[in-house]
Amino acid sequence: MRITSGADLVFISEDKKFCLLLPWQTMTEMLSLCAKSFGRETGGTFYGVYTEDGIKAIAHGITKPSCLSLRLPSLFIRRTGCLTRFFRRLWREKNQYYLGEWHFHPQASSRPSNMDLEQMKKLAAYEKLHCPEPIMLIIGRTPPTDWEISVFVFPRGQNECELFQIQSSERRENTTAR
Ligand SMILES: [Zn+2]
Repeated sequence: MRITSGADLVFISEDKKFCLLLPWQTMTEMLSLCAKSFGRETGGTFYGVYTEDGIKAIAHGITKPSCLSLRLPSLFIRRTGCLTRFFRRLWREKNQYYLGEWHFHPQASSRPSNMDLEQMKKLAAYEKLHCPEPIMLIIGRTPPTDWEISVFVFPRGQNECELFQIQSSERRENTTAR
C-alpha cells in the first residue's frame, strides 16, 4: 500500500479559539494504520506542539494502538500510567505534548458516539494528563482511498466544540492503495 503526498489539513472552531494543523505526514500514518486494521477499530493518541498564543495545536506524530489505545472503558484509567511515562519522555526529549486521541470507525461515519464523547470529557477532567483541552480525531469510511474525518476539542468543564476543516485536501484523490 502506498499513499502519495497531499495537502496539510487545517481545522478551526467557529469562534476561532481552537485550531488544529494536521500535517499530511501525520494523516498518512493514521490512514495506513486504519487500512491495515482490516475493518477493526483502531486508534491511539497524537502529540505535538502548541503555537505561542495557545490557539493552534500542530500534530507531529501519533502513537500506535498498543498499551495506549482507547478501546474499553475499563481500560481507561489503567492505560494512563503507561501514557504518562511516554509523554513525560516526549516532553523531555522533544518538547512535545500529548494533544489528544484518534480512532477509526471502520466503514462507518466519523461522527462521535456517546461513549466517545463521554471518554473525552473524562480525559479532559483527568488532571494527571496535564491536558485541559484534549482533541478527538475520528476517521471514518474505508481508508486509505475513501475516508472522512471529524475533529472535536474538549475544554475542561465545558461542552465539546467541533473544529471544521478550512483547507481542503485538494490532492486527496491521489491517495492510492497498492
Ligand atoms: Zn468512536
